[in-house]
Amino acid sequence: MKLILLGPPGAGKGTQAQKLVEEMGYAQLSTGDMLRAAVAAGSEMGLKVKDIMDRGDLVPDEVVVGIISERVDAADCAKGFILDGFPRNSAQAEALDKMLDEKRLKLDVVVSIEVVEADLFARIEQRAKETVGGPRADDNVEALKNRLQVYHEQTAPLIKYYGDQGVLKTVDGMADIDTVSSDIKKILSEV
Ligand code: AMP
Repeated sequence: MKLILLGPPGAGKGTQAQKLVEEMGYAQLSTGDMLRAAVAAGSEMGLKVKDIMDRGDLVPDEVVVGIISERVDAADCAKGFILDGFPRNSAQAEALDKMLDEKRLKLDVVVSIEVVEADLFARIEQRAKETVGGPRADDNVEALKNRLQVYHEQTAPLIKYYGDQGVLKTVDGMADIDTVSSDIKKILSEV
């Protein structure tokens, strides 16, 4: 199973991806987590992307496309993988199509997690409080406003992109975590 979880920041993509890892044995490929690990490690890539991430802007496409291309070849992706936070714009979506094609892999489904945006600020505030080791540098009102704007301008058009490909499904992301999870698993069982 190869799927994309699509949705604005705070929609619950990471939470839902983790549940699928635990219950289905798929690999979670979160570009945000991988980039944060690079920042924490102080690697060359980390140094390059830190300020961009702190502002809530998108890091260059070639950085994330490169990370994902390497990552999908790993053994833990054999059962399936969940793309969480990638692709984030049309160029990345097109690069992903090409990459999967070259690797003779096929995307099964894109699940769009729909949320009421006004509630995302409270969710992110809660996440900032609960994050072990302190809040993310971009979990604050200013950065979140920018992340939402970036989402609207660059990521939301992917809903149409995947709708046109006939692979888009939606779930109500305002339901509780277990309900969203079972809705997603139902979708996966039907593709
Ligand atoms: P996330 O954890 O998915 O919310 O991502 C946190 C930050 O990492 C984003 O605000 C971007 O700065 C960067 N990032 C994560 N995924 C991508 C991506 N696919 N393209 C560009 N930037 C990304």
